Amino acid sequence: MDTILVVNAGSSSVKFQVFGAETGHLTRLVKGEIDGIGTRPGMHAESPDGTRLIDETFEPAQVADVPAALEKSAGWLRELHGFEPIAVGHRVVHGGPKYGLPVLISETVLADLERLVPLAPLHQPNNLAPVRAFMSRSPGLPQIACFDTAFHRAHGALADHYAIPEHFYAEGVRRYGFHGLSYEFIASRLLDVAPEIAAGRVIAAHLGSGASMCALLAGRSVESTMGFSALDGLPMGTRPGQIDPGVLLYLLEQKKMPPRQLQDFLYGECGLKGLSGISNDVRDLEASTDSRAQFALGYFAYRAGLEAGALAAALGGLDAFVFTAGIGENSALVRAKIVEKLGWLGAVLDPRANAAGEQSIAARDSPIGLYVIPTDEELMIARHSLALLMAGQW
Ligand code: AMP
Repeated sequence: MDTILVVNAGSSSVKFQVFGAETGHLTRLVKGEIDGIGTRPGMHAESPDGTRLIDETFEPAQVADVPAALEKSAGWLRELHGFEPIAVGHRVVHGGPKYGLPVLISETVLADLERLVPLAPLHQPNNLAPVRAFMSRSPGLPQIACFDTAFHRAHGALADHYAIPEHFYAEGVRRYGFHGLSYEFIASRLLDVAPEIAAGRVIAAHLGSGASMCALLAGRSVESTMGFSALDGLPMGTRPGQIDPGVLLYLLEQKKMPPRQLQDFLYGECGLKGLSGISNDVRDLEASTDSRAQFALGYFAYRAGLEAGALAAALGGLDAFVFTAGIGENSALVRAKIVEKLGWLGAVLDPRANAAGEQSIAARDSPIGLYVIPTDEELMIARHSLALLMAGQW
C-alpha cells in the first residue's frame, strides 16, 4: 500500500504518523513518537484502535539527535510493515511572508525556510532537521512542508501589522498567527458539522499546552490572538500570553535578566505553571484544592473571554465558538468558564451536553453555536501532501 509519513519534530521528540493513501483516500495506520532524544530516548507507537505496537527505551547514545530518531523510527516501520513512504509531510512552524500554502521542498525552498530561523529560533531548526536528514538519505523522496502560519497569510493589512516603523514589517516583523493547520482542519470539519455556521462568523479556540484563538469568516482566518511569535494572546501551559512589553524591559534592565534566560522564562516558567505555582496541566489544576489552582483556571477563562471579545469585534459579531485541542476537547470545566464569559454575546451552555463532551454543547435557545471538535493537524498535513502529489508537483 502507498503510504505517507507525517513528521512533527521538536527539540527532544519526533512525532510520526503513517497514513495509507489508496486511490486518493487517507487511512491512518500508525501513530508514534520518539521522545527523550539524547537523554532517555523511548519509542512508542500504537495503531488507530489503540493497540500498542511498541514501547521501547534506548541508551542516550543510540538516539542522540533528531536524525538518529528518524533512522530508528523509519527502521522500525520498515521492519514491521515493509513501509517505504511515497512522500513525507512535515509540520513546519514558520512559512514567513512568502509561503501561504504547503510547498514541495527543494533545496531553494529549504534555504528560504532556514532563513526564517531567526523568526522562530526554538522551533524552526528542529522542524527542518528531519527534512535535511531525508534529503541526504532519500534524495528522490518528495517532502512537503506544511506551515502553522500559512492559514493566516491572507489576513488584511490591519491584522498583519504592529504599530512600529514600516521597515520592520518589510523585514518580516508581522502578526503571523500560528496553529494554522489546526484551524484549517476545524474549518473543514465545520463544513460537515454545521454547514450554515461554517459560512458565518466563528471563533475557533485551540486550547492545548500552546493556546490561541482564530477568527474565521466563511472558513477563512481573518484574525488570530497569536502574532509574531507563539507567545502572544492567551495564557498557556508555560507561556504568559499577552504581556505589556514594559514588563520585559523591566526584567531586562532592572532584573538584569540575560535575553536567553528571558526567552526560557517566557516559554517555560509562566502561564498556568507560573501563575499557579503548581502545574501547567489543567488536569492537575482541576484536581487541586489549592486556591492558586482555581485562580489560574479562572484567569485562563477570563483572558479567553477578553480575547474572544476582540475577535468578535474583528468579525463584526459571532455565530459560533469552537473548542479544540487538549484542554478544549477534554475540560468541561474550562469550557463552562469560557462560555460564561461569552454570555454577553448571547451564548448559553447546555451543561449536560458539555459534561458529556458532546459535539454541540449549546442550549437549544442559544443564538450562538457552541461546539467541541477534535483537531487533527497530522491528517491535515497528510491531505496537503497527497494533494500536492496528485497534482504532480514534484
Ligand atoms: P495538547 O497540547 O493539545 O496535547 O494539550 C495538552 C494539554 O491538554 C495538557 O497540558 C492538559 O492541560 C490538557 N488536557 C489533556 N487532557 C485533559 C483532560 N482530560 N482534562 C483536562 N485537561 C486536559
